[in-house]
Amino acid sequence: MTHAPSARLLIVGPQGSGKGTQGVLVAEAFGVPQVATGDIFRENVKGGTDLGKQVQAIIEAGDLVPDELTSALVRDRLEQADAARGFVLDGYPRNRGQVDDLDAFLSGRDESLDAVIELVVPEEESIDRLRQRAIDQGRTDDTEEVIANRLAIYERETAPILDVYREHGLVVRVDGVGTLDDVTGRIFAALAERGLQPNGDGAAAGAA
Ligand code: ADP
Repeated sequence: MTHAPSARLLIVGPQGSGKGTQGVLVAEAFGVPQVATGDIFRENVKGGTDLGKQVQAIIEAGDLVPDELTSALVRDRLEQADAARGFVLDGYPRNRGQVDDLDAFLSGRDESLDAVIELVVPEEESIDRLRQRAIDQGRTDDTEEVIANRLAIYERETAPILDVYREHGLVVRVDGVGTLDDVTGRIFAALAERGLQPNGDGAAAGAA
């Protein structure tokens, strides 16, 4: 058995940047789970769980779920066996408090992040894509008003966390405009430049 390297990655970008799609491809290639907090919350809302009931109104308003709840959820998920060698986190951390929570969790396990993928997409493009997604998927938080709130929170609370990770030399900046394949290619090239390459065997699905 080959010993696959670890891949502890974040993918960060504004709403509509395509980070969900790209995050799945990166995770598949590295053979680690993609962990998207928004997806987990939406599944819980759909399933009518206690957590779902707690977060439904918050999500529909486009506000942030409290850090305590979100960080506990992520810790539980990352403690599962399939995340032992790594993960691609999408949508978390989203503010300074969550950055600190994740740091504390990882350092308690003698682990650290390998890279933070920043997907760069101009605001107009991002809004266009969200309008299209509203038509395609009918997400209840894709109304004009809620989109504006989510983008404002991104600018105010999430974009600044990139500065923190930049100081640690972790940020890989990738242009998110282009075809899905173009962007995927750029992400893998940028990760490879930092020595982060999926193993030959697991790589076929995402890197092709
Ligand atoms: P988007 O990035 O398009 O806003 P997500 O699927 O990442 O969509 O998140 C949907 C919603 O779930 C957010 O608007 C927020 O209410 C909640 N959420 C997701 N991740 C977090 C997080 N890390 N902290 C707080 N709330 C979150």
